[in-house]
Amino acid sequence: MRKLTRMAAPECWQKKEYQWNADYVAKVQESPSYKFVWRDSKTCFSCAKEQLMSMTQHNCAFCDGALGVESRKTIEHFRPKESFPQLAYVWDNLFSCCDVCQSEKLAQFDESLLKPDEPTYQFYHYFQVSFRTGEIQPSSIASQSHQQRAEITINLYQLNKLERCKARLKELHAFRPHEGDMLDDFNYRFFLEAAL
Ligand SMILES: [Zn+2]
Repeated sequence: MRKLTRMAAPECWQKKEYQWNADYVAKVQESPSYKFVWRDSKTCFSCAKEQLMSMTQHNCAFCDGALGVESRKTIEHFRPKESFPQLAYVWDNLFSCCDVCQSEKLAQFDESLLKPDEPTYQFYHYFQVSFRTGEIQPSSIASQSHQQRAEITINLYQLNKLERCKARLKELHAFRPHEGDMLDDFNYRFFLEAAL
């Protein structure tokens, strides 16, 4: 999970977010099975989605895998809309995400889950990597609470699934930091940064 700096929401989103949340909360109260939909999907949502994608250079905010090739470009509610309907359209709660992270986390949430745009978050404060297995692990020199947060994050997004570890090692193998490659041209950048 790479640190990201959140850009402001598009103006249209800022204007409508409050009303959309209020509408959604009212609908869910009326009918608990009410299905969530993105509003103004062809205009404002499409603009917001592009903004979220550009914040991560079109990578998943959690696993940093590429979006648009092996995975659809999806939007993740960090705090799930099932438990936090009042946050369903809140900009700070939304992240670019891949199909695998979405399907692993589903509606799970833990207050200790790491958020990639937390002001003090840095990958190496919480995690270390294994260049042998491709796994990421809680940092052995981090405090117990940091290690616990790292562990919860790895588990909820299943960041050490075998295929993900293999993909990181493959990317590392292709990465040539001394030949002028741009880091943003690669995936799993937190893993590659640890190798620099
Ligand atoms: Zn992902």
